[in-house]
Amino acid sequence: GLTMTGLAACGDSGSGSGSSSDSGSDGGGGKKIALLLPENKTARYEAFDRPMFEEAVSSACSDCEVVYSNAEQDAAKQQQQAEAAITQGVDVLVLDAVDGKSAATIVQNAKSQGIPVIAYDRFVAGSDYYVSFDNEKVGQLQGQGLVDAMKAAGNDKGDIVMINGAPTDANAADFKKGAHSVLDNSGYTIKAEYDTPDWSPDKAQSWMEGQVASVKDSLVGVYAANDGTAGGAIAALKGGGVKPLPPVTGQDAELAAIQRIIAGDQALTIYKAIKPEAEDAAQNALALAGGEDPSSATDKEGVPATLLEPVVVTKDNIKDTIIADGFYSASDICTAE
Ligand code: BGC
Repeated sequence: GLTMTGLAACGDSGSGSGSSSDSGSDGGGGKKIALLLPENKTARYEAFDRPMFEEAVSSACSDCEVVYSNAEQDAAKQQQQAEAAITQGVDVLVLDAVDGKSAATIVQNAKSQGIPVIAYDRFVAGSDYYVSFDNEKVGQLQGQGLVDAMKAAGNDKGDIVMINGAPTDANAADFKKGAHSVLDNSGYTIKAEYDTPDWSPDKAQSWMEGQVASVKDSLVGVYAANDGTAGGAIAALKGGGVKPLPPVTGQDAELAAIQRIIAGDQALTIYKAIKPEAEDAAQNALALAGGEDPSSATDKEGVPATLLEPVVVTKDNIKDTIIADGFYSASDICTAE
């Protein structure tokens, strides 16, 4: 099991309760809202996005209904799910697209039938509203966090590898761009780089296994775009006998990643508070379904947009970030295995 003694996050009871207002007020809408999520290998979708979205809808409108589907990384399947939702009579689509480019067809098709579309987390051109995080900043924070961790480990030069997200995900390009903006001129050498199909942790692991022999003695850091790919990379490094483990980045504040950070196997993750993202999407879905305009602070390519702030999480601030925010309790984290 994990040894949590001495860790700031453990040994103290967590204060965040994650309480939410429970007004149960009725928007009087009787609307149907499709929530189309892209995959279920990454923990966030079923564990956070879906329940938080459903909760936000039902507390704002007791007679509204969420029609949920998960595309399991299959863009064609997502297209069918969108069509099925439209056939069922939904009033609005909330779409987290598997493939940002081909999803433009889903948007056009919905809009031609008078159904507005929210691009949820991943941008799709032509949508009516977009809510996400500042994704280039996610990449910058990962890149800077990696540099800080490599320096702290005593390495101000050496080889790094980059394990990026899925080429079909619009966000992956933003993460990559942000990370490159820091790493390209950092003095470290980017030895190899991989775009992970479907964000698959297994594929990230196999790729890293293939790299270990050639970088074993020179590797000082691994950029992994999210916690799933980080888990694959770390398994490959351990399996390949790389010791000590170099700093590895991540994203999503998955429970397994927080536990790896505490154990010293992963340097950092990026916390993106899903509750405000899901709540914002739910509110704007209800607005659009009711024929109102979405409320937005900014825009992306002409689409009204809200971009939330990502936060770096290392060993040192687990308690002040994800625990304080009620994302996990200390006991969720500390009662490992
Ligand atoms: C999301 C990440 C997630 C990744 C894989 C991205 O679009 O922003 O939070 O880890 O997809 O599903």
